[in-house]
Formats: sequence, C-alpha cells, structure tokens
Amino acid sequence: MRPAQFQFHPTGPLYACCLGLILLANLQALPAEDPPPPLPTVPPTDFSPPPPYIARLGTSPDWSRLDEFQETISREEFVYLLDHCYARSREEYSGLIHIQADRALIMKQSTFPEAGWYELKFRNQNHLSSAAPVYWRDPTELPDLAANSPRPLAGINIAIDPGHIGGKWVTWDDRHFRIGKDTIEIREGEMTLKVARILHRDLSILGANVFLTRDSNEPVTRDRVDTLQEEARLYLHSRNKVPSSGLIASTSKAMFAISSEIRARADILNESIQPDLALCLHFNASPWTSRRPSFRSPNHLHLLINGCYSGGEMKEDDTRYEMILRILNRVYHEELALADEISKTMETETRLPAFHYDGTNGMAINDNDLVWARNLLANRAFYCPVIFFEPYCMNHREIHARVQEGEYPALRDINGIYRKNIYQEYADGITAGLVNYYRGKR
Ligand SMILES: [Zn+2]
Repeated sequence: MRPAQFQFHPTGPLYACCLGLILLANLQALPAEDPPPPLPTVPPTDFSPPPPYIARLGTSPDWSRLDEFQETISREEFVYLLDHCYARSREEYSGLIHIQADRALIMKQSTFPEAGWYELKFRNQNHLSSAAPVYWRDPTELPDLAANSPRPLAGINIAIDPGHIGGKWVTWDDRHFRIGKDTIEIREGEMTLKVARILHRDLSILGANVFLTRDSNEPVTRDRVDTLQEEARLYLHSRNKVPSSGLIASTSKAMFAISSEIRARADILNESIQPDLALCLHFNASPWTSRRPSFRSPNHLHLLINGCYSGGEMKEDDTRYEMILRILNRVYHEELALADEISKTMETETRLPAFHYDGTNGMAINDNDLVWARNLLANRAFYCPVIFFEPYCMNHREIHARVQEGEYPALRDINGIYRKNIYQEYADGITAGLVNYYRGKR
C-alpha cells in the first residue's frame, strides 16, 4: 500500500491559504521539467497511419474538446492529481504525457506519435486554479440549507447506477450463482436494483432529484452479443490476439454485458441526467477455488473513486483522454470527500471490515482503508463525481442467508444481532453518509 499522503479540498473558507501552503510544500516533489519530446515527422503522402489503440468499444478522442479547459488548472494541481491519484506511478505515463514549465504535452495517438501532442496550457497567473466548465455542482454551488431542514438533499441531482443486468440477461456476465438445492439464485444485477429503488424512495423524501440509469432488469444498450461479433474480432486484432471462435464468443459477451451496457448508461448520464454525483451500486464476491460456486470466508466493504491507471490503460487513446478530462473536471476532491463521509456510515450499518488492494489494480489515496482508487469503465466514463460501492461478499455464508431472507420489514435476528434486511441496510449506509456530508457542507 502507498503511504498516506495529504489531501486538499477545493472548497471551504480555508481553501485559499491552505492550498498555498500545500502547493509550496508540494513544489519540492514536482518532477523536473521533461526535455522536449521529438517533433513529429511528416510521413510520405502514400502512408496510412496504423489504427489507434483504444479500449473495448471506445472511440478515438477528439482532443479539441479539451480546448475549453485551457489555462484552468495550475501545473502544481495537475501534477499532484496525476501523481497522487490517477497514475499508478510516474513511470506509467512516461512517453505519453510530458510535463513542461507552462503546459502538459499529451500524446494524441499512442500507435502513431507522428500525430503529435495535445498541448494543455497551465494556468499561470497565480497558484489558484479557476473553475472548470463542468455540468455538476459541488455543495458550495447549491442553495443554502435552512438549519434543521428536513430536506437536507434538496435540489441535489443524484444518479444511481444499479450495477449489471438482471432477468434472463444474468447469463451474459458472471455475476450470478446458486449454492445449495432449493435456494434463491444470487443475481447481483437484481440485488443492486432493489437497493437502487430503496435509495430512489429515501433520497427523494430527503429532497434529492433521483435518477436511475436503469429501472428494470433489461439492458439499456441496444447492442447484443450477436451484433458485436465483428467488433470483437477487430478488438482482438488490435490486441495482437488470434480471433478464434472461442475468444470472439467471450469477447463479444463481455462487450455486450460490460462495455456496451456501461457506455449506453454513460451516454444517458452525461447527456440527459447530468447529475451532481453518481452512485454505482455493486455487491462483491470472493473467487472460489473449485469449479463450482462455494462459500468463502471473506466478507468486507470498500468504496472506490476513480484513479490508479496503469501504463497499459493510459496507452489507450480514449482512456488517456478520459483520465485527463477527470483531472480537469477536478472530480477527485469531491469524490474523496464524499467517499470518506459515506464510508463511515456504511461501516456502521454493514459492520464489515475493510477490503485491501495490493496496490496493483487499486491503490490507497489517503489513510482511510475503506476508500481506494481504481479505474473502472463506469467511474471513468460518467463525467461527474462517482462513488462506486463494493460491500458484502455474496458467497459468504451469512450474506447468502440474508439474500435468501429477502426484503423483510423491521428487524430479524441474524446470527444473534437484530438487523434490517440487507438491501435496506445497504441503502441506509449511503443515505446517512449523504445527509451528513451535505448537512456539513451546505
Ligand atoms: Zn458488480
């Protein structure tokens, strides 16, 4: 695990002076200015560039869309966010991003450096960054709240993303299993929808405008496994893999249930809902060692914010673009503050210990061991602060039993403790954290 480092928040009365001190302290840690990268050479006219390297079902980015962020972020803040949260290490982005005195040079196409660099100029009048042109609002931009208001979430637009799909579609991703005869099958996509509906009701009562990215067990995307065969073949080619029928089948399946489905939800979220924050709901599971699903002893909780990009991920042009966009959107400060607050109430409600990553696909960003940074499609492609929840291991014996109990009213004795049904408990952990956060900030 990386050592805990300081964090700063862009809001609050002490922000200006704290930021100045922090930035002075952090200047020592800034990398030396990179030497200028080689100038692109002009290829012969009959040359056709190689295809771009992009994520599954991604599209080549239009770098000019970053133009509106020119001179909105200081060099210090850009480097801090990149090194502290987004890149796993500086080595991971070497050759792809060059930090200069007054600008960052970002490679436009990793398979064709001759396409040149996108030049992002830093804000240089002073150390404070100016506001980025984003659709979401932080708590300081929301109307003030009357003391003891019964509607502490009034006016906040919250999108809830119930992870995965349900019904007959569960077979397309691997988030379903049955342990034991005559038991209810565990279906993550249906469980997340139950939590989402409870949150919809409860957060609305508290004043929020709540939107669900899906409100049925049907997929949002219009793509289907059958329609993605050619895309799967092209993708395998781009990864230098032989597109065997088995690989095409597994790739098109993942393209449908994960890539296409999440991208379809991202389109709705970014273009129509444009919320102030998004909550991605999931349940966790422990890998089983045998071929058949089995009970496993781990049971834990963690929350994710976006970050921890590997060199391989940043090599994808669209992923690199989306990471830069997240840095320029400054979602980090809001995500971390929200995740810290909600992790406390989630811990109280669920009574679960923290899960720990080993620093490869997830990394620590502060001293809260319930909150980690990880790069997932949903927390990268939703262009607002995103909190990604991973409580409860579905193949833990107690959690499995609680799912069998369903959505019972009031409390029931679960291993000697009177507890709410698992869906209400999950939702209450989030609701209480949101109320604490917004009461404190508005
Ligand atoms: Zn999940």
